[in-house]
Amino acid sequence: MKLDSLETLFAGELADLRSAESQLIKALPKMAKAANSPKLKQAFEGHLEETKAQAERLDEIIQSLDRKVPSKKCKAMEGLIEEGSEVVSADGDPAVIDAALIASAQRVEHYEIAAYGCARTFAELLGLTDAAKLLEESLEEEKQADIKLTKVAKSIDNSLQAAAP
Ligand code: FE
Ligand code: ZN
Ligand code: FE
Ligand code: FE
Repeated sequence: MKLDSLETLFAGELADLRSAESQLIKALPKMAKAANSPKLKQAFEGHLEETKAQAERLDEIIQSLDRKVPSKKCKAMEGLIEEGSEVVSADGDPAVIDAALIASAQRVEHYEIAAYGCARTFAELLGLTDAAKLLEESLEEEKQADIKLTKVAKSIDNSLQAAAP
């Protein structure tokens, strides 16, 4: 990889994010199916719709650039999803499984928050105002998704404590 300009770096970050979102479009339905609490199921289903829109925003930005964006695989997201799939296939106490799903999902959101934050800033530095705005929208959705997961986790925490011997 040759990182000779901020444009090159930005294009690579977009490709990484696009791959991450594609992988999540496949993974989130499995997380929703594995969730026991209706609130958690709803959170995953809602974020799946946002994720599809985020992928479209990235396509829009990629098409607006007058350079070729390489396609690549986000290996970090592959690893995070692989860990999540261990939870998806686990059996045990429903509330504990939900807590584990949230722990996996929040790792994903934090990764995305970091990636979108950087990509947004690179777009600003490059004077790509429209791209920066679109990336900021997705960044805000990822932050809200994380906050929502924390809220759902608190309700699960109550049922975990009630179930504790
Ligand atoms: Fe996303
Ligand atoms: Zn990545
Ligand atoms: Fe670590
Ligand atoms: Fe997300």
